Amino acid sequence: MISKIHSIVPYGFEGKLVEVEGDQNRGLPAFNIVGMANKTINEAKERVRSAIVNSGFSFPDKKVTINLAPAELLKDGAYLDLPIALAILTLSGQLIKNDTALKAFVGELSLNGEIKPLKGIINIVETAKIAGYNEIYVPIKNLAQASLVSGITIYGVETLQKLYLALKNQLSLPMPGANKDFRRIEIKEGEVILDHIRGQKLAKRAMEIAIAGHHNILISGPPGAGKTLLAKAAANLLPELTPSEMVEITKIYSLAGLSTDEIITERPFRNPHHTASATSIIGGGAIAAPGEISLAHKGILFLDEIPEFPRSVLEALRQPLEDKEISISRANRKTTYPADFMLVATMNPCPCGYLGDPAHECKCTETQIQNYKKKLSGPLFDRIDMNITVEKVSNEELRAPVLAKNHEHNVVKNTITGAILRQKTRYGWDGIYNSSLSSFQVSQKLKLEPSAEKLLNSASEKLNLSARSYFKTIKVAQTIADLDGSEIIKQSHLAEALTYRKR
Ligand SMILES: [Zn+2]
Repeated sequence: MISKIHSIVPYGFEGKLVEVEGDQNRGLPAFNIVGMANKTINEAKERVRSAIVNSGFSFPDKKVTINLAPAELLKDGAYLDLPIALAILTLSGQLIKNDTALKAFVGELSLNGEIKPLKGIINIVETAKIAGYNEIYVPIKNLAQASLVSGITIYGVETLQKLYLALKNQLSLPMPGANKDFRRIEIKEGEVILDHIRGQKLAKRAMEIAIAGHHNILISGPPGAGKTLLAKAAANLLPELTPSEMVEITKIYSLAGLSTDEIITERPFRNPHHTASATSIIGGGAIAAPGEISLAHKGILFLDEIPEFPRSVLEALRQPLEDKEISISRANRKTTYPADFMLVATMNPCPCGYLGDPAHECKCTETQIQNYKKKLSGPLFDRIDMNITVEKVSNEELRAPVLAKNHEHNVVKNTITGAILRQKTRYGWDGIYNSSLSSFQVSQKLKLEPSAEKLLNSASEKLNLSARSYFKTIKVAQTIADLDGSEIIKQSHLAEALTYRKR
């Protein structure tokens, strides 16, 4: 007799169907798993045997063979423990075929029969739904994330024994709650908001524009000028996530193993150090895991002291900055992860940071300074929409009185919300910002008043703007117009946008 259980493993940003077939025959008792290439699944044998016995079931006293199909698919980790155990329970007559028909099962077993959560559960449930399964049984700790997929019946499983009872209609298993509790973004105690930063009026204005239009921004200035604080305050100005954005972000965090039981409800702020490996930033490694640029999807990727990052990492950022996704090649398989992040980067004026500081002497040589600036290559620099320089805050500004609590934050946040709504109305789509328009879309959708057009053309000649810079200036000007409540780009909007082009 042959038993067959349906399962799914994550495969890149999607999933693949797997069939777990069991067979037994006379001969010396043995337990073999065939049809896989990964050693980690061999460990499944011991877990499955112990889980079956410790849950009060009997393990067949025969030669048991489990075949995982398709054979050419490399199956990582412990995803198939549970289906293997069910195949064995069916072989030995403890379950019947009808108990598991048209259902899919995933889960890692512990030795005592408990079912442990898995990475990538959203991929798994989405694949089960597309394949037409009526029901999927997932580890109970994955239930919250699994519930993000609708259109398939999902059960949360705690132990092998409880699953058995449920399949025999003697127990009902938990299902996702009808009320998905999405938390709202609130200012957390201890987090940085605009009001905490004294002075820096121009820099705050630039951050407002950057957030409203999702523009990449580079902040230059000496150490201690508050560059990092500005970036953190900007993160708190990001708009709320839409439900579909929550699904995408949670899927990435689940695949990366950073969260298997929660729904991510806030925009990410990722802050990798310049010593982090290229793989951890871009993605890749043995299992082609998502990197920081994908973990920052729909949020901010903050690169502090960007010239300190290896050239190879900075060059690798160019493609995802353009395409909003990253393709990672691993053996003969290519995985594409979303990477639609807003880049906020900082740099010092020179390696020691004191160039131009009246109070400290800069010890760098001219060559060192040139090399430092050159690390940000032209093509990468061209992908940064806005450039600002911050100075140290004066003592006078430090002593200025503080307005009502969170006043500045609330005012700016409201203005940004209005500007984002304008973009949504203009483009008829959530999550499309001025910065994401193609040159063609800029020509089609954005309107400059004649004096703005004239200013742009003369500035373009004078500053020798590249085609990319030319369009980026219009996009930034449109965001300024949106913050101003204007549909058309006026001369003043364009003039302000040009101030953010300087290098
Ligand atoms: Zn220096």
